[in-house]
Amino acid sequence: MATGRAAVTQPGTREMRIVEYPVPDPGPDDIVVRVTMACLCGSDLHMWRGEVPWFQPAPGIQGHEMTGVVARLGANRQTDSLGQPLHEGDRVAYSYFIPCGTCWACMTGVTGCPFRYRARNSVTADTPPHFLGAFADYYVCRAGQWVFKVPDVLTDDVVAPINCALSQSFYGLHQIGIWLGDTVVIQGAGALGLYACAVARDMGAGQVIAIDAQPERLALARAFGATETISLRDVPTKEARVARVRELTRGGGADVTVEVVGIAGVVQEGLEMTRIGGRYLWMGNIVPGQTAEIVPHDAVRQPKTIRGVLAYDRWVIPRALDWVARVRDRYPFERMVGARFQLEQINEAFQHAEWVAGQGSIARTVIVP
Ligand SMILES: [Zn+2]
Ligand SMILES: [Zn+2]
Repeated sequence: MATGRAAVTQPGTREMRIVEYPVPDPGPDDIVVRVTMACLCGSDLHMWRGEVPWFQPAPGIQGHEMTGVVARLGANRQTDSLGQPLHEGDRVAYSYFIPCGTCWACMTGVTGCPFRYRARNSVTADTPPHFLGAFADYYVCRAGQWVFKVPDVLTDDVVAPINCALSQSFYGLHQIGIWLGDTVVIQGAGALGLYACAVARDMGAGQVIAIDAQPERLALARAFGATETISLRDVPTKEARVARVRELTRGGGADVTVEVVGIAGVVQEGLEMTRIGGRYLWMGNIVPGQTAEIVPHDAVRQPKTIRGVLAYDRWVIPRALDWVARVRDRYPFERMVGARFQLEQINEAFQHAEWVAGQGSIARTVIVP
């Protein structure tokens, strides 16, 4: 029987170990994918540090941002989720979660179903079909999981971050709405923020203002379409940054502000930068229990819409793939991917990702199994 390797978490330690599992026969609604690239996303680092629970209890296979090729198709999976014929060897991108379809969130059309990881977090890696995480040779897409063929023109470097980082930015901006000519402030020029710069510009934003502490990230934000940048080093106070945004918007403030920095304390600043009637999108603060002081008055007597967005809808990945294929020469998408490690080097890869994150690099550390 064919086997595949997986990096598996162990209780009480950050160290993962490599385990071989039999490659399962796909169930009728499954697709067995051979993983060709898996990213270490910021969420994976939160989990590795213990700030957020792992997707799967130990022994578990982690990771969620990835791409691969079809290894074996279940009997009912002859097409992708758009009805395009699917064959073994086809490159695919897929959601990393499966909304349950029956809870009140799903019933009312809200993404972020609380049961979206149920196929994964209810078992360990020892239970067949084993391969339910990205850091492995194989990954099994289950019933209800959206799978899409990848355009040939896109390399794995460009595709791998699409099912998490790009799709999240794409859907969040769609939800908050960008109007032609809007001024959009992006708090945090990490991967989500860089994608948000480019997507906001393409959605018709007139001005995109990126805020970050790292000069390299701000330079990259400009390459991704930011028209202005505000450096925390040059403009160290909240008051001065708010004043700068107002100066760039004839005193009014941003039409849209996007929080993708993941620091609770920035939300008051974002509120103050947003114009009366403006929209404030929250996506970065995913760690439970982190608190911040805000002045509710600033959203009530200067009325504003605040919207938190988690996960994305089924139409997002195919549109994100098409968009990247169209604009790939305009934005340096390949710079989202940095150092490459083999699966056996998973622990080294996490150490490296933690180190480069501390240096302020946005380039994702990736596993090429
Ligand atoms: Zn992610
Ligand atoms: Zn649900």
